[in-house]
Amino acid sequence: MKVLIYGSGQLAQMMYLAAVPLGIQVSAVDVGNHTVVDPISKRSLELSIEDAIEQADVLSVEFEHVPEDLLEQAQSSGKLLPNSEAILAGADRVREKAVLSKLAIANSEHRIITQVEQLDEAVETLGDKLIIKASRDGYDGYGQWRLAHIEQLDSLKNTLSQLDLQNVPLIAEKMVPFERELSLVGVRGLQGDIQFYPLAENLHHQGQLHVSVAPAPDITENLNQQAQLAFKKLVEEYDYVGVLAVEFFQVGDSLLVNEIAPRVHNSGHWTQQGTDTSQFENHIRAITGLPLGNTKAKGKSAMINIIGCDDYSTDLLSIKNCHLHLYGKTVRPKRKMGHINLTGKTYSELAEVMTTLAKFLPIQAFPKLLDEADKLA
Ligand code: ATP
Ligand code: MG
Ligand code: MG
Repeated sequence: MKVLIYGSGQLAQMMYLAAVPLGIQVSAVDVGNHTVVDPISKRSLELSIEDAIEQADVLSVEFEHVPEDLLEQAQSSGKLLPNSEAILAGADRVREKAVLSKLAIANSEHRIITQVEQLDEAVETLGDKLIIKASRDGYDGYGQWRLAHIEQLDSLKNTLSQLDLQNVPLIAEKMVPFERELSLVGVRGLQGDIQFYPLAENLHHQGQLHVSVAPAPDITENLNQQAQLAFKKLVEEYDYVGVLAVEFFQVGDSLLVNEIAPRVHNSGHWTQQGTDTSQFENHIRAITGLPLGNTKAKGKSAMINIIGCDDYSTDLLSIKNCHLHLYGKTVRPKRKMGHINLTGKTYSELAEVMTTLAKFLPIQAFPKLLDEADKLA
């Protein structure tokens, strides 16, 4: 079997690594250069995208922001899983909000902004604590602006008036005073069978995921039900095949969807060591029609992103139950360079491993690590 993934970053790399033992070959489309590459070396395979599509049994994506022409070409091959409608729901916040409201899935209150003047009305109805998001191409908090106070409104309007809002509208969202962020990563097979990983608790810093803990502590049956119901509604709507991630805000006993990601997700990286079947393997299994694998957590896991830094010692691997996953990138501020997976039998054991890990790292680059270890201890 041959799989062609759109996008050639770390997610394609990790899908490749998970596919090898299954005898499945993965190549990737570098969507910036319109080339077909090896997902590990990133070297060109000297193959046109047309020929790569022809040779592949299945096409899939590592990220939702695939250029429209490429996505259409992929969809028209009849081999794309999940399909382009599902991918677009994750790529375009206007579509995303529309499907959430159509399916009656709770999400944060918002207004669609196609002219900056509409921000006045947004402030009147939603209040003056807003997060403004470009409807397309945003990730890791890029393409977002925050209004913290009414006095910033004029200068914000000035900034946003430079954008082409007719073509790429903004979403003005009420700043949700959430208790915490959770995500549900699940997978739906070709026959419609579904497996869920346990909910993960996610800690963000400056709009970017830093730490995930899974299973998230203190999950009630009620929270699980809400998350799984939202997931089920979405996958049924799209006849979805593959891994889907749904990000939530927990407010009291309720979950609000923040956004959906039609792909393997950073908050599911812990599954590489924390479960029998990682999200990467299960995505490959799903799209190639293989039976899905066990998604149960083996213990307690933490995933720590290595962001914008490479000045740490690989001696951290001397820590028991500590695994390093590097993406082979050169360092840049805010760039995800790799992640570290930790496991423990209990949360307090996990907290101990996290505290030990902190001694091996330049701690200013890991602002959430010790806080979270303290909470779990
Ligand atoms: P990702 O890399 O997850 O795709 P993104 O750039 O698409 O990120 P969001 O997930 O929409 O952005 O937002 C990033 C983070 O900003 C959220 O995880 C959350 O911490 C914060 N955030 C976003 N929307 C809101 C909101 N309405 N209220 C409060 N915080 C928010
Ligand atoms: Mg996003
Ligand atoms: Mg997000």
